[in-house]
Amino acid sequence: MAKKQFKTESKRVLDLMINSIYTHKEIFLREIISNASDAIDKLTYRMLSAGDSPDRSALQITLIPDEAAGTLTVIDNGVGMTREELESNLGTIAHSGSLQFKKDMAAAEHLPESDADIIGQFGVGFYSAFMVSDQVTVISRAYGSQEAWQWQSSGADGYTLTPCQQAETGTRIIMKLKPNADEEDYAQYLHTHTLERLVKKYSDYIHYPIRMEVEHSRPKERPADAGEDYQPEYETVKEWETLNSMVPLWQRPRSEVKDEEYNDFYKEKYGDWEDPLLRIHMSAEGMVEYKAMLFVPARAPYDFHTREYQKGLQLYSSGVLIMDKCADLLPEHFRFIRGVVDSQDFSLNISREMLQHTRQLKIIASNLEKKIKSELLRLQKDEREKYERFWRAFGLQLKVGVVSDFGSHKDLLQDLLLFWSSKEGKLVTLNEYKQRMAADQPYVYYACGEDVDKLSKLPQAERIRDKGYEILYLTEEPDQFVMEALGEIAEGKPFKAVDAPDALPESDEEKAALEQKAQDSKDVLDFVKETLGERVHDVRISNMLKSGAVCMTADGPITLEMEKYFQRMDPEQARSMKAQRVLELNPDSSAFAALRAAVDSDKERAQRYAQLLYAQALLIAGLPLEDPAEYTRLVCSLMQ
Ligand code: ADP
Ligand code: MG
Repeated sequence: MAKKQFKTESKRVLDLMINSIYTHKEIFLREIISNASDAIDKLTYRMLSAGDSPDRSALQITLIPDEAAGTLTVIDNGVGMTREELESNLGTIAHSGSLQFKKDMAAAEHLPESDADIIGQFGVGFYSAFMVSDQVTVISRAYGSQEAWQWQSSGADGYTLTPCQQAETGTRIIMKLKPNADEEDYAQYLHTHTLERLVKKYSDYIHYPIRMEVEHSRPKERPADAGEDYQPEYETVKEWETLNSMVPLWQRPRSEVKDEEYNDFYKEKYGDWEDPLLRIHMSAEGMVEYKAMLFVPARAPYDFHTREYQKGLQLYSSGVLIMDKCADLLPEHFRFIRGVVDSQDFSLNISREMLQHTRQLKIIASNLEKKIKSELLRLQKDEREKYERFWRAFGLQLKVGVVSDFGSHKDLLQDLLLFWSSKEGKLVTLNEYKQRMAADQPYVYYACGEDVDKLSKLPQAERIRDKGYEILYLTEEPDQFVMEALGEIAEGKPFKAVDAPDALPESDEEKAALEQKAQDSKDVLDFVKETLGERVHDVRISNMLKSGAVCMTADGPITLEMEKYFQRMDPEQARSMKAQRVLELNPDSSAFAALRAAVDSDKERAQRYAQLLYAQALLIAGLPLEDPAEYTRLVCSLMQ
């Protein structure tokens, strides 16, 4: 029969499996069992949504080692696969586990040999069967279908699909084990004690019984006529046993679960190779009873910032999965959380639509939100270094949370935020800032820009820094809007951008002095304004500059940072979202003196000075020069 070919990507993973050098070959069993368990989950889920109720006691996974045939068979009575599904699920890698593996492999191929073990931690999927088998046969009958199909492959040269017979719905995977090689013992996977050990190690919490016939030797029944000196005879009997304890981790008391078990559970379930940064295991009683086990990953999953990523927690009702990604259990700002919720307060056949409206779900969601926040705060307080790692991975998500929904989550989220401090040279919380704030300090200062280094040299901030006031340096996209949304941190201490015109309130004397300076310089200011025309909204004497000669600020609601943001987001629309630029000049600077002298004596030179100062202000503000070629000509012309 003509062989069908694997899709190219699948072939590559398959090759890796067949020629695998990994020490963790035994994980194939975990993968095959976890697929079987998923298949049973899917079946119960499908039946429940069709208004059917599955006979739960019959659902199981069976292992059949056959030493004579050299095969290990794993049978499940789950949903099964149709012909098309066999082809698309096993002939192509389009599936989470395998796909993730492929991505991780790309990274792992650059690892030193000793780290190759790390591969054993990935979810490697169905193809891992080829690490230990010469040939894999899958016989499956899909739920609701009368026909069964057989898929068979001996490796990279392709697979065959043929019709066959199977009495019941479900799948059997028959693995013809490889002959033992130098240092590889494949025959061990036919020994019941190895299989028992592997199930305990990797699949203990699988919530369907994993059954196997195990041999025991036991004393024969004592014959009625046995005499005094009767020696019991032993016989070997075969008995079906359940190998796994089936108690999901989250159902066990916290004190009994070891760190390692939590971490292994997390890594296995979510295909991550790093331990989670934080875990929350809770058992709630009261209005709604539930158990929850939540994890914060150590870094953002590769698809976190794509549309592909779906937030949500798995929802179980007494150990039965009723929804895979229940989005309503998590607010957007905590969408990075992974985990499960198990509550017997939900009926098994509840529909998704109904579920959304249940009071229980809302109560659980709101409790989880509070709990997540308090655990993150604890981390912030007790394990700052870890919290900073969390912040680097997901801080942006929290900031977006502050600005979205009209700022309605800001009270919940603001304590979790971190900002770079000019004073501390590290990330600080708003509370820490508040505690250090001098009594006479009118505002909480911040400066937005590309990077901390540039911000620390911002000329307009010089006087604020001189006063000893701490400035928060903001370098991320939504920061400007976060500040707008937060408004103030406490008792009338509003946030203020260091380049706002009124960033430093002046005494009456200072005001008068500034006004005087403006009066004295009126002709110069008017001249500059006239020279620059449309480009500026106003030209003023600055009260912010100390050693710098110029800076750019903005009048009106759109700040320069917002303008840059709009420009990045949508250049087309950004045309109408321009800040009203204000060129501020420092009357005490030597540049100003030169300008003044030129205005009086050489108007043409003065015009060039005005343009030069404008260009300088743009550069300092991180705005593009309108015409760089013109700018160089200008500078060169002034060097003559
Ligand atoms: P993953 O489990 O991460 O999706 P796998 O490579 O382990 O990736 O499996 C690929 C796909 O094959 C699964 O998504 C599932 O659709 C199908 N599959 C594998 N084993 C079974 C099974 N025992 N019953 C039904 N479907 C299965
Ligand atoms: Mg799988």
